[in-house]
Amino acid sequence: MLAYSHGCACRGAAITLAAMQRFAPARALFYILPQIALATRTRGRMTQSGKPASPLKAAIVQVTPFQQNCTLLWDDVTKAGAVVDPGGDLDVIERAIAETGMKVEKILLTHGHIDHAGGADELRERLGVKIEGPHKADIILLEALEKQAKLYQIPDVRNVTPDRWLEEGDTVNLAGHTFEIFHCPGHSPGSVVFFNRAQRFALVGDVLFQGSIGRTDFPYGDHAALINAIKTKLFPLGDDVAFICGHGRPSQIGIERKSNPFLV
Ligand SMILES: [Zn+2]
Ligand SMILES: [Zn+2]
Repeated sequence: MLAYSHGCACRGAAITLAAMQRFAPARALFYILPQIALATRTRGRMTQSGKPASPLKAAIVQVTPFQQNCTLLWDDVTKAGAVVDPGGDLDVIERAIAETGMKVEKILLTHGHIDHAGGADELRERLGVKIEGPHKADIILLEALEKQAKLYQIPDVRNVTPDRWLEEGDTVNLAGHTFEIFHCPGHSPGSVVFFNRAQRFALVGDVLFQGSIGRTDFPYGDHAALINAIKTKLFPLGDDVAFICGHGRPSQIGIERKSNPFLV
């Protein structure tokens, strides 16, 4: 297990990124976000059912040649959780799942690009769970994954139809934690952001990155729509909200609002 020293200005984040630890292997970077800060923040908070909220834990497993952050997210008490964006390298993901001891109850997809959704159909079959997300506007991408895989010469990719499409205002339940859905088109037409208000945490896919934003030069990209979604839907969530993105390191809304060159 190696200590992971984090260079960015994330100090003070709800999730103390500076204290992230990295363990394991060659190919996959595997981060566990320390939950001390989260646990402190959520002490006394109540879930909708009236029970105290237990902390969520997250681990990032980098998958595919695009180094996509497949994220494992689970409740620290019950161990129930989700795999977010299993783009590929399913054996690596399954090893990470085993290592965390989490019990996967669903798969979540932020959008339909191959590095995020390419392994979803097979993982659904392996684990016997359902897929939620993204927004239906990404059906054009999800139905073209096999074609894309040939183009990029990526093996074991299948087209995928989610069990549930998500829309603005929907909520997703994950082990008793509620995630609000924000439809944030621009990088792809059907990109969604999952936001847990109680723990001040979001999964943003390729909408927003540390110091950057999602590419919009792909087919169906829309730069103006992306900027609009970030500024009108993500910024209002609050500067203290920590997020995990589809590539690169986690960050915080406030840091990006103040210093992201695409947004200031
Ligand atoms: Zn993408
Ligand atoms: Zn991506």
